[in-house]
Amino acid sequence: MAAPAAAAAAVEVLFDFDKTIIQWDSDDWVITKLGAADAFNRLRPTMRWNSLMDRMMGELHAQGRSADDIRECLRSAPLDAHVLSAIRTASALGCDLKVVSDANSFFIETVLEHHGVLGCFSEINTNPARVDAQGRLRISPFHDPTTSPHGCSLCPDNMCKGKIIQRIQGTDGAKNKHFIYIGDGKGDYCPSLKLGEGDYVMPKENYPLWNLISSDPQLIKAEVHPWSSGEEFERILLKLVNKLITLHAHGSQLDYKCNMSNPVSTEVGHHQTLPVPN
Ligand SMILES: [Mg+2]
Ligand SMILES: [Zn+2]
Repeated sequence: MAAPAAAAAAVEVLFDFDKTIIQWDSDDWVITKLGAADAFNRLRPTMRWNSLMDRMMGELHAQGRSADDIRECLRSAPLDAHVLSAIRTASALGCDLKVVSDANSFFIETVLEHHGVLGCFSEINTNPARVDAQGRLRISPFHDPTTSPHGCSLCPDNMCKGKIIQRIQGTDGAKNKHFIYIGDGKGDYCPSLKLGEGDYVMPKENYPLWNLISSDPQLIKAEVHPWSSGEEFERILLKLVNKLITLHAHGSQLDYKCNMSNPVSTEVGHHQTLPVPN
């Protein structure tokens, strides 16, 4: 029996980007490959990451690197074929996919578009980026620390992923949804703490998120499923997605007393029987 689309829409998969969707950190990839590592190492002790990245884009521009050079560089960043396949399958099954990342919109859109999966995502929550009139890439904070500080002590001042998850959890219909959160970094811990029972978190094994979860597993309400390779990423994600779709399809049948595999139902409960589509 094919799962009703409504069942799959009840599954929302939230992806971190750096070292989760792509194998490297995209900031690190661009800085290293385009030869700005010296400037980066010089400035790192004095600047916060988000403003440092904006500054680094200025360095690259001063060195004659165009936005197209950066785009070209990002297209060569390695991405595991299993991760791509997992994204395509989860999307084809009808799950709602979103990115939640402390990279930036220019980097993420370039990579996802290059691999043909940009259309699989309904939202990309990240630091906004734009190419200015001089052709320099500008990167701004997601939460402006001066005008709208997020007030979370776990997260960097430009982005609290937990606040983003809470916004998604507060949208229409989200109460009946199951969330699967996949990430590797320290910044993925705050959103993992916001997940509830019936949700899942997939931390990359031996990375900061996994270490933080392992240090006090009681704090996490979601079920924890670690992964360490693209192959495991795909296998575990699709197993969870299929489980949730089946569970939800079954739940809807109980709600409506309508068994889709046996449409000529003799059910005469107090629930109204759904009309059988032709
Ligand atoms: Mg990451
Ligand atoms: Zn936070």
